[in-house]
Amino acid sequence: MTRSDEILSTFQDIGEMSLRNWRERFPDYRPLGFLSGYVPEELFHAAGFSPVFLLHGREGCGHAQAHLPGFTCWVVRSALDRALSGELSALAGVAFAHTCDAVQALADLWPRVVPNPPALYVAMPHHLAAPAARPYLLAELQRLRERLEQITDRALSDEALRESIALHNRTRALVRQLYEVADRLPAPALHTALQAAFLMPKEVYNPLMADLLDTLEAHAELALAKGEDPKGSPKFLGSQHHHRPRLFVVGPELADPTLYQVIADAGGRVVGDLLDLGQRYFARAVGETGGPLEALAEHTLAMLPTPTKYHPQRRREAHLLDMVSAGEADGVIFARQKFCDPHGFDVVTLKTALDKANVPHLLVELEQTPHIGQMRTRVEAFLEMIGA
Ligand code: SF4
Repeated sequence: MTRSDEILSTFQDIGEMSLRNWRERFPDYRPLGFLSGYVPEELFHAAGFSPVFLLHGREGCGHAQAHLPGFTCWVVRSALDRALSGELSALAGVAFAHTCDAVQALADLWPRVVPNPPALYVAMPHHLAAPAARPYLLAELQRLRERLEQITDRALSDEALRESIALHNRTRALVRQLYEVADRLPAPALHTALQAAFLMPKEVYNPLMADLLDTLEAHAELALAKGEDPKGSPKFLGSQHHHRPRLFVVGPELADPTLYQVIADAGGRVVGDLLDLGQRYFARAVGETGGPLEALAEHTLAMLPTPTKYHPQRRREAHLLDMVSAGEADGVIFARQKFCDPHGFDVVTLKTALDKANVPHLLVELEQTPHIGQMRTRVEAFLEMIGA
């Protein structure tokens, strides 16, 4: 087994591990769950916690059905299901930020039906460029900081916050490098390496990811020295396809690796994404000079908006077209969670822009348990159409 295989296998183990076993695996860290791409991870980290995203699994015990309507997306239902089954009881808390009405409803419901872990909430402005957005968000972050100080019974200093920002910026830089070499990796490996960033303490993830990137670099150099194509090395790509269509994936978070496996099996590769917890999440560093709380607020407002937010200068359709062009993508796959209205409306705007630019696209709907056969047929047909 090569070093890169070893690291990817570690990431995969962590992706498959139940949160019940998290403390056993990382005994020096205190996990805190979060839901939504706007939770300020650094604030929680500076208060002594390791933020872990509540990525949904396929299993459910059905407890959430008593509290949420059947047309709630599985991302939200799964989080409540896991809490009610006791799987999250080792977490110090669960943090929510307003991303969509479903997350807001869960944040409102949580304190009434989940005795443990407790909920922490951060409100988010909708118009990210409005004059009131910055002071509003800053006041919200200050309120959260004070709440964390009460919970931990210790001051949360600017110095601690700066250290946490530097650590998370390192993760962002590494994940950006990962995307730069995405076309050298099988799609499931990209998915696994990205997902691990949300499930492990950053102190553990960063050196492993740096090691993976070094190994990939060394392998590419070796391939070049042998006169092989570093992007087409069978060792990494594991297939005999000559032209491997370059795909871009759009959607909310993508906990289930099935789509990436199906893309790889059909001969495609994922070269970038517009996932709420994907490239956009890691695209920018938080400022490391000046007030750290102000830097976090600036950063949150400057990220590419998710579908429920608005910024007149940062339009998702323009961003998607730029990214598709820069990544020389052959097509786009929309991976929409069933019952996710924000991304459902987003697809309409984005696909209109793609149609005008003659970029082929395919919409795949994701459910609690994926219909693999149907997904495989549709992805294979799509890749054939765009010239696999
Ligand atoms: S999948 Fe959609 S509806 Fe569900 S939490 Fe994410 S953004 Fe909200």
